[in-house]
Amino acid sequence: MRDTKYDSVIIGAGLSGLAAGIRLAQFRKSVLVIEKHNIIGGLNSFYSRFGRKIDVGLHAITNFVKKGIAKSPLCKLLRQLRIPYDLLGLCEQNFSKIILNEKIVQFNNDFSLLESEIDRLFPRSIDVFRQLVEHIKNFDAYHEDSLQNTSTRAMLSSILHNQELEDMLLLPTLYYGSACENDITWQQFVILFRSIFLEGFARPFDGIRKILTLLLQKFQELGGEKRLACEVQRIETCNGKVAGVRLNDGEFIACRNVLSTIGYPETVKLYDREHFNDTPKGQLSFCEAIAIFEQQPNQYGWNDTIVFFERNNHFLYKKSIDEIGTSSGVICLPNNFNYENGQSLKEGMLRVTALANYERWKTLSHSAYGTMKKYCFDLLIEQAVKILGNKYFDFETWKKNLLDRDFFTPLTIERFTGRVNGAIYGSPEKIYNGVLPVKNLFLCGTDQGFLGIIGAMLSGISIVNRHLLLEQPS
Ligand SMILES: Cc1cc2nc3c(=O)[nH]c(=O)nc-3n(C[C@H](O)[C@H](O)[C@H](O)COP(=O)(O)OP(=O)(O)OC[C@H]3O[C@@H](n4cnc5c(N)ncnc54)[C@H](O)[C@@H]3O)c2cc1C
Repeated sequence: MRDTKYDSVIIGAGLSGLAAGIRLAQFRKSVLVIEKHNIIGGLNSFYSRFGRKIDVGLHAITNFVKKGIAKSPLCKLLRQLRIPYDLLGLCEQNFSKIILNEKIVQFNNDFSLLESEIDRLFPRSIDVFRQLVEHIKNFDAYHEDSLQNTSTRAMLSSILHNQELEDMLLLPTLYYGSACENDITWQQFVILFRSIFLEGFARPFDGIRKILTLLLQKFQELGGEKRLACEVQRIETCNGKVAGVRLNDGEFIACRNVLSTIGYPETVKLYDREHFNDTPKGQLSFCEAIAIFEQQPNQYGWNDTIVFFERNNHFLYKKSIDEIGTSSGVICLPNNFNYENGQSLKEGMLRVTALANYERWKTLSHSAYGTMKKYCFDLLIEQAVKILGNKYFDFETWKKNLLDRDFFTPLTIERFTGRVNGAIYGSPEKIYNGVLPVKNLFLCGTDQGFLGIIGAMLSGISIVNRHLLLEQPS
């Protein structure tokens, strides 16, 4: 047997990498997580600005269910990681909205609200909507043969025969997980529909830090090792099998298995540069504006947690022509969760996400980039305030008095995560079984097809359970 230093090396300390690391360490496998940044969390990390801790992306943790719903993804995940439910400190959303032009549908973590809203707005479609929900509940979305390439648009239009209702259901689901323009596979739609509408939204008071701290603590207690600020430059192979990883400083780390969480094309690039060119790459990226203010949003009558909006009659989910698209987007108010003991976040926060165009941002000069960020910030915030309503204040004065503002672009995402084109939802081609052409090299996370924070963690666990806990011949 070769003298391997680690049983497994995990590339990336995002949510899937940390969950996979815990699972391996629980089975006494020697495991090293390597992360190119000096902080864990990946796409869902946090940063400090003027003493404030800001989540990189977190709007809400999807898949919320109350304690003890054994078969739910959240409870399954916690059971596998042996983390008690209460430690997450999840607090439920107030309520959220889908706005399609003039039509508004409210929903919260009780599915009957969405059902009654659909009955109110689309009374003639309520029976087919209920049939759709039954179909979604009974569909085995985690089976590998589960209609992976079936278009959701085609499925929904054949079931609902109602373009507006179809668009309303697609607004949150595409924004929270589709790597493809204007559509999503049926399998992924089912996973997202359940996680957003049949389960729900929640957030810990301290945001993503709470979850990252828990995961890291658990991983280290079990003997897992991590290296931060350390980039894997190559996955070395020998006779078609993993030999180890080469770091950016030239160091070689031998291992039996490599689990990559960095994305499909990004992983291919580490072992086969030629093949990288033909690997499908994600094209969809986003911008987000973050405004911080003194007041609580409810003082302005802003009680929604998340608002998904489209200003036109028909929802188009497409790479924008300009730096940002303003016809649709997502507004999030992290203050509007029911925090325990009536606690509230110290300051108000408004986050606005819009579709973007990576190439447009990429070709701006340094100074034009800064100017464009300011312009797009103003555009997105003004639009969000209009949608939320501003009868209690003068917008220009409010904007002048903001405590802080930040804006990220597809280039920010690319720089901090290594995702090609800043594509948050990764490649349009998913590797559902996690198997790559190199022996003992596996893929988990976004490009394995599981979505969001809970999906990423489940992906890490399921790929470990399936491929790395079996005794492999050396
Ligand atoms: C702005 C934004 C908002 C979001 N909002 C939500 C939300 O509200 N709710 C939700 O459920 N999900 C949300 N998501 C999605 C969620 O964050 C992701 O699905 C999930 O975090 C993906 O985790 P991952 O482990 O698969 O990948 P990643 O988080 O991308 O982890 C991969 C890690 O690998 C590291 N890496 C890359 N290349 C190398 C290398 N060569 N060597 C070493 N390390 C490397 C990266 O730095 C990164 O840390 C959001 C994402 C973004 C960007």
